[in-house]
Amino acid sequence: MEKKDLNWSELSFSYIDTDYRFSAVFEDGEWSEGELITSSQMSIHEGSPVLHYAQTCFEGLKAQTAPNGDILLFRPDLNCKRMASTTARLMMPSVPEALFLRGIEEIVRANAAWVPPHGSGASLYIRPFLIGVGENLGLRPAPRYEFRVFVSPVGPYYKGGGLSLIDLAVIDLDRAAPKGTGAYKAGANYAGGLMATQMAKDLGASEALYLDPAQHRYLEEAGSANIVVLMKDGTVVTPKSESILPSVTRRSVMTIAEDELGHTTEERPIDFLAEVDQIEEFAACGTAAVISPVGKIRMNDTWYAFHGNGEAIGPVTQALYDRLTSIQKGETDDPYGWTRPVEM
Ligand SMILES: *Cc1c(COP(=O)(O)O)cnc(C)c1O
Repeated sequence: MEKKDLNWSELSFSYIDTDYRFSAVFEDGEWSEGELITSSQMSIHEGSPVLHYAQTCFEGLKAQTAPNGDILLFRPDLNCKRMASTTARLMMPSVPEALFLRGIEEIVRANAAWVPPHGSGASLYIRPFLIGVGENLGLRPAPRYEFRVFVSPVGPYYKGGGLSLIDLAVIDLDRAAPKGTGAYKAGANYAGGLMATQMAKDLGASEALYLDPAQHRYLEEAGSANIVVLMKDGTVVTPKSESILPSVTRRSVMTIAEDELGHTTEERPIDFLAEVDQIEEFAACGTAAVISPVGKIRMNDTWYAFHGNGEAIGPVTQALYDRLTSIQKGETDDPYGWTRPVEM
């Protein structure tokens, strides 16, 4: 198979139009079989609940090429389960696991020419999403739903590329409410975050960092990435909160830290200002961000710096990144069975 003629190592995290997408429709209590289509456009009714009331949710995962040429998915079953929890919260029909996984496999296979080669530093980002469509006016669940999956070859999410330091800024805006939808990948959570991201950028950071919405005291997460910190006593800690999006990457990183790097790990509330002096390394993690070491955080006009005065990547963050990415790329053994080759 001929790969597309792209400059793989120069890709950024942006949309590239590929040949196929997958579409299935839910109507009258039933899912259609689902099919590959070529058009990147969608035609929907002007009253569709997705347009007015944000009845929409999404997922994100990556496919990477292994040294032997296999195309590997990373823990797609967890994305399916997370989408099911989101759809239940948003009164949407759940996408059956078989349909979800088949949609992903078909779309990767059909777009195999767009999957970046091994060693290019790029990967294929996969975006499954579900929207509520059809004639509607009042606030109620949609009469019809479309599940779509598209893909795009991508490079690094944050400017700088590969494993590079980023800075975060705590902004006086919340991403989620205490009993709201923060724990779900619901479209409604993200438009409200655009302004916080912009304000963080205006302060010289890459992204906003959120504190808990009830007390503005405990660490939550960044705009599209969870947080993992190394305390000075060697413990690896991730914030516990009901309004954080449960990241597949974070779960994997915590497992590696405990099982392979020998750290004690904890999921507990982290009182940011009270504990900041005890934090040695700070990292943001997610499918798009992978693991991004955080050098500095700005809060209330003060910058707090971590490992190496905020100028150096910490050794534990580096080790977590190396191990996670080598499993994802099929470069080492995968004792957990996290990767899954797409049948070609
Ligand atoms: C998608 C997302 C993450 C990362 O989750 P992964 O499963 O690791 O990709 C973290 N936070 C938010 C708000 C997200 O939307």
